[in-house]
Amino acid sequence: MSHHEVRMEEIIQLCRRRGFLFPSSEIYGGLAGFFDYGPLGSQIRKNIKDLWWRSMTQLRPDIVGIDTAIILHPQVWKSSGHVDGFSDPMVDCRISKMRYRADQLFFSRVVVEGETIGHVSVLEEADMQARAEEEAKKLKRRLAKQGELEPVRLLPYTEAREEEYALIPSPVTGEPGSLTAPRAFNLMFQTRVGALEDTSSVAYLRPETAQGIFINFKNVLDSTRLRLPFGIAQIGRSFRNEITPRNFSFRSREFEQMELEFFIDDSEEAWKHWHAYWIEERLRWHRSLGLRPELLELEVHPKEKLAHYSRACTDISFRYPFGVQELEGIAARGNFDLRRHQEASRVSLEYFDEATHRRFLPHVIEPALGVDRLFLALLCSAYDEDEVEGERRQVLHLHPAVAPLKAAIFPLLKNKPELVAMAEGLYRRLQKKWPVAYDASGAIGRRYRRMDEIGTPFGITVDFQSLADATFTLRERDSTRQTRLPEAELMAAIDAGLEF
Ligand code: ATP
Repeated sequence: MSHHEVRMEEIIQLCRRRGFLFPSSEIYGGLAGFFDYGPLGSQIRKNIKDLWWRSMTQLRPDIVGIDTAIILHPQVWKSSGHVDGFSDPMVDCRISKMRYRADQLFFSRVVVEGETIGHVSVLEEADMQARAEEEAKKLKRRLAKQGELEPVRLLPYTEAREEEYALIPSPVTGEPGSLTAPRAFNLMFQTRVGALEDTSSVAYLRPETAQGIFINFKNVLDSTRLRLPFGIAQIGRSFRNEITPRNFSFRSREFEQMELEFFIDDSEEAWKHWHAYWIEERLRWHRSLGLRPELLELEVHPKEKLAHYSRACTDISFRYPFGVQELEGIAARGNFDLRRHQEASRVSLEYFDEATHRRFLPHVIEPALGVDRLFLALLCSAYDEDEVEGERRQVLHLHPAVAPLKAAIFPLLKNKPELVAMAEGLYRRLQKKWPVAYDASGAIGRRYRRMDEIGTPFGITVDFQSLADATFTLRERDSTRQTRLPEAELMAAIDAGLEF
């Protein structure tokens, strides 16, 4: 079955039309980088989190969950390196007052037969090479230069030489001279704790959930009977003052993370084994959740780009309509975090191995996933357009476990009291088990379509035969196949479909 090549515009429209996701604070003009999930969107998010939590903590004896505070002792972020190093390079345009990530602003010299005639700049996008070439041609025409244009070679602004800052055009004004040199911009949101207005009251909204896990390593070890290797999982909101939030909800300033810290032995073999294990395991999980395999890719970070403490990092990337981007990162972090917290707090975070009588700081493998990025990936992967009975339909092929509603109940006619009574009864019984909808208005085909569009996997019609023999028509969203079943079998069919 060929899949519709989805455009971002279609996803954004669907989100608005059916209430999945809205720009936050919309009646006040919105606030860039923040989003409000609507009735269906918030249910999908909850399903995603429940499925992750269940896979991690319920189905495995070696992982436990915790739930830590968003605001932690400010020393946590000094020890972790976030106060000094959690920054992105930014560049300002002095005229338009716009601010960009310097590593997302690209430039090239424009060279005609060996002579540099100027520079072009573009913001990072899938088609930026083509746009830069277009700009270069325009410049050549404007300056009426004869001769062959040499290939446009884009570099990030972070790699510009000092004398080039003044020559690279601002992406807003198109003119050079207004861009500043790149500067480090810390991404943590600051706040204050208590009534004092001095520096001792400064605190941060967490930029990741991971540190809450590290500082509770000893608490968990002492209060459970876990032995290495074991994991601690956490789901929670994180905040980053991203310089350029973009691509809808992909890069936002408030988002939710699902992070696992999996503690292991400190040997070379251990991290290699467990890093490979978690890459495979997480990829399997994304596939079983229904992300189409052809849209998933592994990206291995090159050694020279790793943080100094990091042994390895592999991303699971997703082919979004705006390009292939990180969905989940799986990092081998050594013992960096535990060591830093042990040094600064002077509390021993060492693990004692009874078998070898050795005390050491465990190493850790960290699979870190964003709820909102997975939400967007699931919609992009599931969205499709096809034809049913000569009519075009939009459909979300969501895994039933992810779908916001599991079934919809339709009385064939809304003005026949016996049909309505029977349908309402069935609705009440189904409602106790799953989120389901009841829809009595419009032609039955239209009612199916409305449910297809939001990914409801099952439609149940109550008709005249139902009154006679207590069977119902179960219509399956993807195949549109219809089968007549008594209530018990109907329930069993839905249960089976929901299995994950
Ligand atoms: P990026 O390079 O895209 O900024 P990152 O490598 O900084 O991401 P991590 O610190 O590894 O991200 O965070 C783990 C996960 O949290 C990411 O894989 C992503 O799913 C999610 N995440 C990080 N930043 C954001 C954001 N601004 N908006 C939404 N999700 C995010």
